[in-house]
Amino acid sequence: MEYILHKKSNCKRIKIRVVKGVVCVSAPLNVSKREIDDFVKEQSAWIKNQLSKYTLSKENDLISLLGKKYRLHYIDQRVCYVEGDDLYLYPDQTLIQKFLKQNTKKYIDLRFEFFCEQLHIHNISLQYGFYKSKWGSCTPSKHKICFNVNLIFMPLEFVDAIILHELAHLFHFNHSKAFYNLLCTWMPNYRQVLKENKRNPIPNLY
Ligand SMILES: [Zn+2]
Repeated sequence: MEYILHKKSNCKRIKIRVVKGVVCVSAPLNVSKREIDDFVKEQSAWIKNQLSKYTLSKENDLISLLGKKYRLHYIDQRVCYVEGDDLYLYPDQTLIQKFLKQNTKKYIDLRFEFFCEQLHIHNISLQYGFYKSKWGSCTPSKHKICFNVNLIFMPLEFVDAIILHELAHLFHFNHSKAFYNLLCTWMPNYRQVLKENKRNPIPNLY
């Protein structure tokens, strides 16, 4: 099994981490290559399990952006763009994140405005970020709503559900029955849409 080795003087025992599909081993200076290899071998079941959770997107994968599927190509010019049914990305995290954020913002800003008009809601400012464990958040006292840029990979119906979820928090701060009642008058199939997309994986583009 391939791994990246860091030998450190302040390291007391051999440790393995799996980061973004790469196996990283740190070990004390006095430990031999053989001992490290044996240790990695012992841990191989755990390592394989960790690795299976991460698959980097590759050439020709189909990537869903705002409800439309694109064929992925990595290119060596420092740009990210879509053309027809193709998505071209320069493999650089900062650049790809900027591209995703711009496009998410362009779509959600408009969609948000549409719902605000329908519901007579005014003066809410929007923010976008990459969050690990939430699709959005709402701070009613600051008239602020945040959206996860990874919404770009989700079906548009799901994006609507998240927008409406955060808007409902302007009226109910918690997830009470009243909150869901309001949400379901706005979007009767809310629970269904959320359930259907629960296991929708986010591609690892960088
Ligand atoms: Zn909520």
